[in-house]
Amino acid sequence: MSNLQKYKMLIGGEWVDAASGKHFESMNPYTGKAWALIPEGGAEDIDRAVKAAKAAFESGQWSKMTATQRGHLLRKLGDLIAENADALAATEVRDNGKLIAEMGLQLRYTPQWYYYFGGLADKIEGSVIPIDKPEHFNFTRHEPLGVIAAITPWNSPLMLAGWKLAPALAAGNTVVLKPSEFTSASSLEFGRLFEKAGFPPGVVNIVTGFGRDAGAALTSHPDVAKITFTGGPETGRLVYATGAKLLKKVSLELGGKSPNIVFDDCIIDNAVKGAISGIFAATGQTCIAGSRLLVQRSIHDEFVDKLVAFAKTAKMGDPMLPDTQVGPVTTLQQHDKILGYIDIAKGEGAECLLGGAKATRPECGSGWFVEPTIFAGVNNRMRIAQEEVFGPVLSIIPFEDEEEAIHLGNDVAFGLAAGIWTQSIRRALTVSEKIRAGSVWVNTYRAVSYMSPFGGYKDSGVGRENGQDAIREYMQTKSIWISYATDTPNPFVMR
Ligand code: NAD
Repeated sequence: MSNLQKYKMLIGGEWVDAASGKHFESMNPYTGKAWALIPEGGAEDIDRAVKAAKAAFESGQWSKMTATQRGHLLRKLGDLIAENADALAATEVRDNGKLIAEMGLQLRYTPQWYYYFGGLADKIEGSVIPIDKPEHFNFTRHEPLGVIAAITPWNSPLMLAGWKLAPALAAGNTVVLKPSEFTSASSLEFGRLFEKAGFPPGVVNIVTGFGRDAGAALTSHPDVAKITFTGGPETGRLVYATGAKLLKKVSLELGGKSPNIVFDDCIIDNAVKGAISGIFAATGQTCIAGSRLLVQRSIHDEFVDKLVAFAKTAKMGDPMLPDTQVGPVTTLQQHDKILGYIDIAKGEGAECLLGGAKATRPECGSGWFVEPTIFAGVNNRMRIAQEEVFGPVLSIIPFEDEEEAIHLGNDVAFGLAAGIWTQSIRRALTVSEKIRAGSVWVNTYRAVSYMSPFGGYKDSGVGRENGQDAIREYMQTKSIWISYATDTPNPFVMR
């Protein structure tokens, strides 16, 4: 008999095993050992979940609720997340190995998404259009889409679920959530809070399982109206193609290779911290990692020396300890992929100034750790400068002037984020305008908020999350025409 914690999935308000009866193990990246058993949902489970979500959307209590009532429920849910933030954060750390300091902060912040979009639920107004047709009254309604398929990655499971679920539910949709197979436990624990808050059954369903099975079955289900996906670019392309075939609405938040640009007029010590936060926070496992550090040649050597000295002091080890700064990599596959990219960078001729190997420090135990790694002398054409590593590996690229910084910053397929370090307002505004990325930070890095739009240019995605407009991504507009004319003119011509 296994002593691993065994989870169930949430379908139509019931806690169930997968139809196949199968489970898979969830691993703790710090110990390298399994700690939980997750139901291995497949097409049959997805079908039941989508049908439950469709039924909740079309009939039942949810469809009869006013937007104000939906807002109340979302705010209650936010309160429950806040009450359970520490426990949910601890589960996430067990699953993804990110720091308790980071996951605790994320979970304490996540309720804001439910408060914000809960508040917005009853403020979505249509308009009365002063239409050009005589004796016609025309107005618009913004209506929910139906069943939303929400697919999340492993790096920030519940915060990223909130980016999707809060606006989707506020708009009046119902949801089937499929979390990453590497970090399913926190989403299943989160499912309990919907019951407690009083959401009707079927409004939110959570099906766990592998991407190729449960994920693919969800995106190709005919009753799904929209797919909202956060994950890697290759999976994103697959999901987009499936959505296109079935003419579903799709929004994608994908990866990045973001330039963090350091000009010679910056406050160097702040920019060093900005560079560190860009690549070593979350062990580099963040879509907005500032993994390409562009440094102006005039301060290059001084800056790089300071950066390496700072990075050397990073404390690695148990992610549950509050003072750990660099934790393990979430999955063994990812760990091996990062080491593979380190070899590629060395093979391409980049100069390894720090790290460049698996971490074998005693405090890393048997976990999946990679040393914080810094490569200098990187050329923007190298693979290490162009491809997302999703780990603690920094590429430093020197530049001469503003024009070259903008060119190098944009010379990549992605466009998720960018950092600019300068004290010149003119430079900050000019460069932020010319950088093709969805978020640009000046003298700061990795700032995100429920209030501010987030999303990718170019290969980094389609659509936006967060901010007031995000709710519109889960709605469609209907135009309603009413004639108050006393007669009907020639029926053979357009009105
Ligand atoms: P992934 O693409 O491997 O998996 C993401 C999700 O997609 C998982 O739930 C997975 O089960 C599911 N999936 C896999 N194959 C599928 C298929 N064929 N059909 C449907 N679903 C499928 O990504 P990951 O490794 O979990 O996450 C890391 C990636 O996510 C990185 O590229 C990172 O940059 C990106 N990311 C982006 C953002 C953002 O907001 N832009 C945020 C976090 C992570």
